[in-house]
Amino acid sequence: MSEDGPLLAVEGLKKHYADDDSLLDRLFGAESRSVRAVDGVSFDIAEGETLGLVGESGCGKSTTGETLLALQEPTAGDVRFDGESVFDRDDTTEFRRRAGVVFQDPFSSLDPRQTAGAIVTEPLEIHGLPETDPEVATEADVTVEGVDYGRVEVRVADDIDLVVDPVDGVATVHVTVRRRGGTVSASADEDVTATVVEGGPSDDASDGAGSESIVVEVRVDRSLGEIRRDRAKELLERVGLSADQVDRYPHEFSGGQRQRIGIARALALEPDFLVLDEPVSALDVSVQAQILNLLDDLQDELGLTYLFIAHDLSVVRHISDRVAVMYLGEIVERGPVDAIFEDPQHPYTRALLESVPRADTSEQGRRVDPLKGDVPSPRDPPAGCRFHTRCPHAREACRAEAPEDYDGDAPGQRAACFRLVDDHPYWDSEPIDIAAERSGGETVGDEAASDD
Ligand code: SF4
Repeated sequence: MSEDGPLLAVEGLKKHYADDDSLLDRLFGAESRSVRAVDGVSFDIAEGETLGLVGESGCGKSTTGETLLALQEPTAGDVRFDGESVFDRDDTTEFRRRAGVVFQDPFSSLDPRQTAGAIVTEPLEIHGLPETDPEVATEADVTVEGVDYGRVEVRVADDIDLVVDPVDGVATVHVTVRRRGGTVSASADEDVTATVVEGGPSDDASDGAGSESIVVEVRVDRSLGEIRRDRAKELLERVGLSADQVDRYPHEFSGGQRQRIGIARALALEPDFLVLDEPVSALDVSVQAQILNLLDDLQDELGLTYLFIAHDLSVVRHISDRVAVMYLGEIVERGPVDAIFEDPQHPYTRALLESVPRADTSEQGRRVDPLKGDVPSPRDPPAGCRFHTRCPHAREACRAEAPEDYDGDAPGQRAACFRLVDDHPYWDSEPIDIAAERSGGETVGDEAASDD
């Protein structure tokens, strides 16, 4: 984390949806309850960092991503981007430029009627980009051949920064003014036109040093549409496609290539932060690694910050610096990626890890706590610890009280489980037999008795 604080800070974020209570509910006067998709999550992401946000389908991770991008209105809480609230901004234009998203499904997230070039340039058109920066000065670096330098005046258009990258606030264009025979001409960098408007063609070769001034005007030689199209070609190449694919339609690309187009579109506005919402879930395993490597490379090259959303823990391990695990709208564990994988503290994190295929034989003897039962409804989450209806270590204390975040074993690791507190009343309370409860039977045993 930089001295200036995190790039993104999520504080107590909630997103509840109004419940469409049924006719029967209304008939019998049942109380209307909202769906608590996201129920008070807090985390931050430092500049250049990747936070993996994982959990089963329906746990609220995608809603968290959409809400922090202000694509959905929050029920409560705040999101600060670069120190400023996302929701209190009068003008969200700058935030929308700096924070983008890559969606899960490269098949449905691309308009089949648009070419790859049109898809990638659409954000530029919406934002009216590229645009000239009035703060940037323009100047010419002039070379002369057969012409007195003192006679040359070069006038550079103010919008030259559209095609010439400024350095220290100055866009410098290189111009050569030369005399050949009786003609004076001018040339300049690519994408720029230099025209002799005074003292040129009529200049006399026998004029010697001459007294007539030579005036050269320099301007951008392409339309905005052409500049955007070239930008699309650059972006397609940057994500591993070819510039000559710019006029092809989505159906002409494979799934992995379509996701590359989605990434190019997300990069068009030169963002600082991307929400990657299950970006490889819809792809074949062999293609997943290529896209993950691409995202990794782009982060290194462009200094991007990522929130990487996935249901598969094995996917986030490759790319994340830290991981946050969500269950039923809450974050139940967070920490450095190695700590989460090698020493998970929360029973839910352990259960998720059990579903990850393990190639390493040294890990194959690891203890297994299989996850039982379905995820409860976010409309009516269990009291106390929300995981207690599925947790193999659940005790009566777990349904009486919700755990806070407690320190785990590794620095920066925190988990919401009473088992992290040695002297918590949890240890003296009665175990819950979740299997018996699910089958409607009595509380018959101590499923957790040998859990230590
Ligand atoms: S607080 Fe209880 S129910 Fe919740 S994860 Fe810990 S042991 Fe399981």
